[in-house]
Amino acid sequence: MKVAVRLRRPAMQVQRRAFSVSPRRLNNYAFIGLGQMGYQMARNLQAKLPPWNTIRVFDINTAASEKLVQDMKAQQAGGAAPEVAVSAGDAAKDADTVITCLPEPNHVKSAYEDILSTYNASPKGEALPGSKSRLFIDCSTIDPTSSREVAAAVSSALPNGRGNFVDAPMSGGVVGATAGTLTFMLGAPECLLSRIEPILLRMGKRVLHCGPQGAGLSAKLANNYLLAIENIATAEAMNLGVKWGLDPKVLASVINVSTGKCWPSEVNNPVPGVVGTAPASRDYQGGFGISLMRKDLRLAMLAAKEAGAELPLSEKAAEVYRNAEAEERCKGRDFSVVYRWLGGKE
Ligand code: NAD
Repeated sequence: MKVAVRLRRPAMQVQRRAFSVSPRRLNNYAFIGLGQMGYQMARNLQAKLPPWNTIRVFDINTAASEKLVQDMKAQQAGGAAPEVAVSAGDAAKDADTVITCLPEPNHVKSAYEDILSTYNASPKGEALPGSKSRLFIDCSTIDPTSSREVAAAVSSALPNGRGNFVDAPMSGGVVGATAGTLTFMLGAPECLLSRIEPILLRMGKRVLHCGPQGAGLSAKLANNYLLAIENIATAEAMNLGVKWGLDPKVLASVINVSTGKCWPSEVNNPVPGVVGTAPASRDYQGGFGISLMRKDLRLAMLAAKEAGAELPLSEKAAEVYRNAEAEERCKGRDFSVVYRWLGGKE
């Protein structure tokens, strides 16, 4: 299927605003997928909700759900009442807001199958008390087509606006998830913005509305495709300069006031010692894992194929990341480790 995503206007940044939570409104939340990102996001959300709200959490790794609820209960001040759920459906059955943060498209599809089967089996699940419709926010990085399939399944299980599925992939990494400073790229109808934004701003500091459902993922994948290429090109250019005898710090300072400047050259420089805070300066530990970069590149290539967009550099880039990750000295490290794979001087 050809997917043509048109943004009706440039992404609109939504500023942090004062929350107008109506007093004693009973809101039930579900949070599904408590990995590196989801665990921290759920913790921030719970801590910033009033105590008369509930949050039910689920991960197929039961230990993660139990530990999170313990952490939530141990914190000093307030927050929504946390509970461990035994399945995605169990977490979501009474929730008016469901947030998912899962690794791959197949995980998202299977979690929503479970959630929607619970509503189908339970007439009670069809309308919430107060008849507020259910909102499903998927923060996973998946392909826009899979996301639209899940959105369609939600609409057919909960028709007439009783269920809305939106995509809100994020950037900011584990550091941003922990600090509550994530940026969300939102794909959602305008009419839902006032409901979605206050929820996302409890876990992040910026919401960029990119257009209708699916548009958040398109924006995220286009950005990460560019990043994938820039990272390799920066590693190549730095390696080249060093081999020519240039001091890498001098070369980086030239690039960073010239036309080659990009995030990998300025913030995440792949040569150890050039940027003290970059993963390269700590043996490429932490940062954005090479396996996540491979995944995002694969999803971008899939979505490009569906849209009929040529990505001539993508095959080579995918090969570079695949070969780099296959080497023990690069595996599990920040994606800037491509410089090491190229044989760059460290
Ligand atoms: P992760 O692998 O650390 O966590 C995923 C969690 O989902 C795991 O705890 C796993 O047990 C759980 N899970 C898998 N299938 C499940 C199911 N059916 N039901 C319930 N739980 C299930 O992944 P992460 O790093 O937290 O990333 C989550 C998403 O966010 C991914 O799509 C990723 O691409 C995206 N993302 C990650 C980062 C990052 O820096 N880690 C940054 C931006 C976006």
